[in-house]
Amino acid sequence: MKNSTTCTAQGPVGPPSPIAGEPWLHITLLVSAPLSGKTRLVPHKPTLSPTKISTYLACAVKYKWTYADNRGKWYLRTKSYYSFGSSLHAVLQRFHDSGDQGVTTTGQALAALEETWIQAGYVSQDEMLQAMSEGKAIIENYTETFKAQAVTANTLWVEKTLTADLGPFTLIGRVDRLDEREDGTLEIVDYKSGRSSVTPEDVANDLAMGVYQILVREQFPGRKVVATIFALQTGEKATSSFSDEEAASFRSDLLVIGNEVLNRDFENVEPTGKWLCRDCDFLPLCSRHPEFELANETN
Ligand code: SF4
Repeated sequence: MKNSTTCTAQGPVGPPSPIAGEPWLHITLLVSAPLSGKTRLVPHKPTLSPTKISTYLACAVKYKWTYADNRGKWYLRTKSYYSFGSSLHAVLQRFHDSGDQGVTTTGQALAALEETWIQAGYVSQDEMLQAMSEGKAIIENYTETFKAQAVTANTLWVEKTLTADLGPFTLIGRVDRLDEREDGTLEIVDYKSGRSSVTPEDVANDLAMGVYQILVREQFPGRKVVATIFALQTGEKATSSFSDEEAASFRSDLLVIGNEVLNRDFENVEPTGKWLCRDCDFLPLCSRHPEFELANETN
């Protein structure tokens, strides 16, 4: 599996998660007005997730087709790497959930993988079976290694959606796991199913890990928070952490980007060819634009 997926929010069809797929530009929420007892429409605050922000930064037109223009949904294709990541994440969620006693051994974890395996997106049965075999090896290695280690942390959350009010929008993210170490440090753990190596610099530069740190810091003010990426292909992991100053700076960067997204005129944004286009689901849509040209290999 060459592509990497994060546990946040991956589903078998892009956009990869319920969070990522949440349309936000024109949502209203039905609520009951307490005095009249009648139902009224209340504007819903826009939300931004790491996936939305990454999509926008990669291509504003891709953001438009994914989140702001309904026509895009007809072009979304299933992706085997989303299916693969979602299948593994579902098992690891159960393995680390203290309230779930059904997946505590390697054998149970492998059985759970078979039961919840997502088949969508594979081009052939052979490819799917190969991926399942790879997934079983990952789960076996992960659970055996985990059980052989001394327990030095308490898992507080698995697959938890967190939000923070950033003023013009709500920041939202789904954390794979949050552990509390013996010294009180909170560790965000993010599984990358397609990854075989990771460095502290990778973690420090990962937008989603930055967002998760902001969200956990909001929930636990004053606590030390670190972020760890776990490369499931090899079991390698790396950790990084914001200082208070870095967290404040990243938060204000998010506000700048968020305000740009909120105020962007997506109706009139025009596609320009770039390397990303060749693997983009929306290429047929963008190709209809009279001035659109695919970039060559050097773009
Ligand atoms: S085809 Fe290219 S321009 Fe169009 S949405 Fe995809 S990446 Fe953006």
